[in-house]
Amino acid sequence: MRVKHKKWADPLIAAHPELMIDDATQFKGKWQSRFAKEQPLHLEVGMGKGQFIIGMAKDHPEINFIGLEIQRTVAAIALKKALEEDLPNLQLICGDGEDLQEYFEDGEVAKMYLNFSDPWPKKRHAKRRLTYKTFLATYQQILQDQGAIELKTDNMGLFEFSLESMNNYGMIFDGVWLDLHHSEENEHNVETEYEQKFAAKGQPIYKLIANLDRKSVV
Ligand code: SAH
Repeated sequence: MRVKHKKWADPLIAAHPELMIDDATQFKGKWQSRFAKEQPLHLEVGMGKGQFIIGMAKDHPEINFIGLEIQRTVAAIALKKALEEDLPNLQLICGDGEDLQEYFEDGEVAKMYLNFSDPWPKKRHAKRRLTYKTFLATYQQILQDQGAIELKTDNMGLFEFSLESMNNYGMIFDGVWLDLHHSEENEHNVETEYEQKFAAKGQPIYKLIANLDRKSVV
């Protein structure tokens, strides 16, 4: 979903360098210095308006979280929400998931989240899906050994594609859920904005957790 550019977005981002980073390359390899404590780093690509990453940061003070969003106005909305909280374990980036290798050092990230990523349903757009093999290679680079990727979506096409793409890449599945909200896995689930919307319409939510065991990847 494209959001119209809002005039207040740029000034708000500029006013809060302590919470939102515009040029993420400058902290490559140094993200831990941005947090109150050194602890495992989890990254969400495409955080949208930030409900998930803020909720996770509240629920898990023992983990450092970074939310990344490419649309400036959407990122600014997430920033606005995060400013209402006081979370020493949360940082936000306005940037592009295609450039992760420029933002993070090899092995700097412990876990990644992809929530309700754009499905790009047309076959000729497959390369843009965030689970296309070129993206997986990038994730492998920045994730530590055994680093996991958690993905949630309502889109069956994207889910099927992701299972196949990740399997072909040599990833190991720790869990696959075809109806997350009616499973035990839902107990500690933090909902995203899209998730709330789709679940309210009665659509099942799919989830997978895949492990990138470097040694098994060719
Ligand atoms: N995770 C949120 C938003 C899902 S919509 C939720 O579940 O509610 C997908 C989001 O990913 C959009 O906000 C879009 O701008 C963002 N996005 C798409 N491609 C991206 C990229 N390459 N880098 C960072 N964010 C991206």
